[in-house]
Amino acid sequence: MILSVNTAELPNPTSNPISHDDDSAGGQARHRRAYDNVLQTIGWTPLIRLSRVTRGIRTPVYAKADFFNPGGSVKDRIGLPLIESHEKAGRLKAGGTIVEATSGNTGVGLAIAAALKGYRCIFTMPDKMSQEKVRLLRAFGAEVIITPTAVPSDHPQNYVMMAKRIAAETPGAVLAGQFENQANPDAHVATTGPELWEQTEGKITHFVAAAGTGGTVSGVGRFLKSKNPNIKIIAADPQGSVLAELWRTNGDGHPTGAPYKVEGIGQDCVPHTLDMSVIDEFMTVGDKEAFAMARRLTREEGLFVGGSAGLIAHAAMHVARRMDDPNALVVTFLCDTGERYLSKVFNDEWMRENQMLDTSPSNIENVLGRKDASAPTIVSVTTGTTVRQAIRLMVLHNVSQVPVLDGAVCVGSVTESHLSSQSLSDPKALDLSVGDVMEAPFPTVEAGQSVESVAKLLSKSNRAVLVKRDNMVQGIVTRFDVLEYLMAR
Ligand code: PMP
Repeated sequence: MILSVNTAELPNPTSNPISHDDDSAGGQARHRRAYDNVLQTIGWTPLIRLSRVTRGIRTPVYAKADFFNPGGSVKDRIGLPLIESHEKAGRLKAGGTIVEATSGNTGVGLAIAAALKGYRCIFTMPDKMSQEKVRLLRAFGAEVIITPTAVPSDHPQNYVMMAKRIAAETPGAVLAGQFENQANPDAHVATTGPELWEQTEGKITHFVAAAGTGGTVSGVGRFLKSKNPNIKIIAADPQGSVLAELWRTNGDGHPTGAPYKVEGIGQDCVPHTLDMSVIDEFMTVGDKEAFAMARRLTREEGLFVGGSAGLIAHAAMHVARRMDDPNALVVTFLCDTGERYLSKVFNDEWMRENQMLDTSPSNIENVLGRKDASAPTIVSVTTGTTVRQAIRLMVLHNVSQVPVLDGAVCVGSVTESHLSSQSLSDPKALDLSVGDVMEAPFPTVEAGQSVESVAKLLSKSNRAVLVKRDNMVQGIVTRFDVLEYLMAR
C-alpha cells in the first residue's frame, strides 16, 4: 500500500521567520547529481522546525538534523578532517592504523573515511555505550576494545589512556585525537556553522548544543559569533558531568562527577577541543528528561534521535520558553540517530530497570508541574473586564481560554474563539463586560485527583479545569495539557 502525505496539509504553527523549502514531493532539489563517494554526502544536513513539542512556545525552535549524515551522526563531519590532519603532518601513511577513544559515533565517522582510504581502525569504548554502537563499528571492520566506564580519567584502563597506549605501541598507528586535535572544532567552523548561518538567513539568535569533545559547540560558536557576536551559545550538560560546574567556577571548582546514562556528552575533565570562552550559559539536564524528550521527538515530530539530542532539545525548549523577543530564533542540535539506542532509550524494559520511566500513579498536580515554570500560574479576568482587554490578555499570554474569577471562585469562563466571533459579528461587543458574555465556569478539581478522572471531565464539554490545593487556586489545566501529558507517558 502506498501512503501519500501532502505536507502542505500539515498544520503550520505560526508564520515562518525564515524561508522554507516546500518541496513536498520529496527531495527533488537535493542530490541532483551523482557523487564519487559517500564522504561527499556528509554535511548540509536539514534544518527542521519543531512544531509539536514546542506547543505553547512562541519562539520558533529549529533542529539541525545531523543524524541525516551517512553514518547517522554529527561525528561524520570530523572523520575525514582528523585523518587528513595526520596525513598532512606525514604521521599517517598508506596501510597505517587509526586508533581512537570513542563513545561510538566518532568511530563510525573515522571508519567510513578509513574504509575508502584503506586504513585499519582500532577503537576503545567505555562499557556504558550501547551494544548497537559496538556492533556497528565491528560491521565497518574496526577492532573494538571495551574498557570500564567507572575509572578515573588518568587510570590506565580509561578508554582515552588505553587508546593513547595502543597508538604508541602499534607500528604505523596514529591517535586520531578528537579530544585534542583542532581539526575537530575546525570542521564545524568550516561546515556546521556556515550551514546554520545560511539556513537561518543569519536570523539565528540562540544555538543550543552539548559538549562531548566540545568540537560542535566550540566550532559552531566561533563561526556564529564571528558573524554576529550577539548570538548566544548555550551548552547543555548531563547531570553528573563536571563541565557546567567548571564553566561556572571559571575552572577553579573541584566538582566530583557522578555516573549518568546519556551517551556521547559530558566529561570528567575539560577536553582541549572545548573552548569554554564561546559559551554564554550552561544548563544541566537529567537523564530522565533527556530520554523523555528523545522519545517525544520521535513520536511527536517523527525525528528518531538519541539521548544527547533529547537532552539538548529539552534545554532548547527552556531557552525558547523564557524568551520574550519576537526576533528570537533558537536552534537545537540532533546529534545522532535513535537506532543506536533501540536496546536502551527505546526499550521500555531498560527504561523501567533504570528508573527512567515515570511509573508513579499520576495526579493532576503532576500535569501542572510539567507546565512552563516561567509562565504566570494563572491568567484570569473578572466580570468587569472588557472583552477588548480579555482578548488582549489572551493574545499576550498565548492562551485560548481564561477563567472569570471572583476571588478564588470561578464564576465563568471566556474563550478566544467565542469572544472573537462575537466581536467580529458586532464590533460593539469589544466594549461589553466579560460578565455579559461569559460562558459556564471551569470545574474545580483537587490537586490530588487522578489524571484519568480529570481527563474524563475534559472529554465532556469542559475545555479546562482549575486545580485547587488548600482552597487556593494552583493553576489551570487545559485539555491540551492533559493530552500532552498522556502522550509523553
Ligand atoms: N552526542 C553524541 C551521541 C555524541 O557521540 C557526541 C560526540 N561524542 C556528541 C553528542 C557531542 O559532540 P562533540 O564531541 O562535538 O561535542
